[in-house]
Amino acid sequence: MPIRDTDLIQAWTQVLTLSQLKPGQSVTVLTSDNTHPQTLRCAITAASLMGANVCRLDLPPVNGEKALSRDPLAYLGTTPLTGNPPAIAALKASDLVLDLMTLLFSPEQHEILSTGTKILLAMEPPEILARLVPTEADYRRVQAGVKLLQGKRVMRVTSAAGTDLHLPLGEYPITAEYGFVDQPGRWDHWPSGFVFTWPNEGAAHGRIVLNKGDVLLPQKSMVTEPITLTVDKGYVTRIEGGLDAELLREYIDSFADPEAYAISHIGWGLQKRAYWSTLGLYDREATIGMDARAVSGNFLFSLGPNNEAGGSRTTACHIDIPMRRCNVFVDDLQVVADGQVVESLMQEAEVTHAR
Ligand code: FE
Repeated sequence: MPIRDTDLIQAWTQVLTLSQLKPGQSVTVLTSDNTHPQTLRCAITAASLMGANVCRLDLPPVNGEKALSRDPLAYLGTTPLTGNPPAIAALKASDLVLDLMTLLFSPEQHEILSTGTKILLAMEPPEILARLVPTEADYRRVQAGVKLLQGKRVMRVTSAAGTDLHLPLGEYPITAEYGFVDQPGRWDHWPSGFVFTWPNEGAAHGRIVLNKGDVLLPQKSMVTEPITLTVDKGYVTRIEGGLDAELLREYIDSFADPEAYAISHIGWGLQKRAYWSTLGLYDREATIGMDARAVSGNFLFSLGPNNEAGGSRTTACHIDIPMRRCNVFVDDLQVVADGQVVESLMQEAEVTHAR
């Protein structure tokens, strides 16, 4: 159902306030052909009412002819900023970039963040943004997740469906996605609410059994029959099953890049206002599937690049796979039990993260 501009302006005001936007700061709204017009006008209105100097940078889309879908994450690599120094300079000179285009997984994004500019990505339709508008409580819950992951040596994931995955940890940082940008040089994505890291290079091994109801993104489809992924030395080496497995294999193979089979980020969802069921309620082009990525108690893993974490792997293919009904252990501590966050651990950890 559509929402009123006033509601979305209020939501933007909340996000910008949590992002510590101050009068006189420069906000650049980065847009392209896929930008939602209501999100754009409400972002500009909210930032202007808060006293920011607001400008808009609109860039033509790229890679559409290479991608197999219109999803903004369907093909990574070059972006409209590649080889575009004036546009990069404008973003570097801004205190805050509101990314309504999708700059994720690009060297240009790193370059801009390194100057202290904050970047907040927002692509979901207005009513999803409004439902999942971040709060201080979301921040505390995600930081509690970070605390549980800190210093751990291995993540292990099991499920009644047959998943038994070993993910040695320690080489890569922990990332907290809570939906606003409260530190200089911080990137985040509204909506969010999850914690993740990356397995040590070449170390992930075991078996993943995707079961009925698990979600493939950017396919934005639910698996209808089991798909078994064999993982060895950090890569998926076999994809077995029926038609769903065949289609997944075909999609990845279309990129003709062995790096597309690497295990990328791994973590679990913490957002209680996100739902599994919303994916089935939207046209595929209307959403990028953040509900499934963030829903409390999922195990979210992905295939593809690790350059976001400081690794050297870049590949145009990136698939996020939120899984239901998994058990997630960090060292010997169980943090997700049969698809539910172990809430007693969270309450304990949240108390120490009040600010
Ligand atoms: Fe991802």
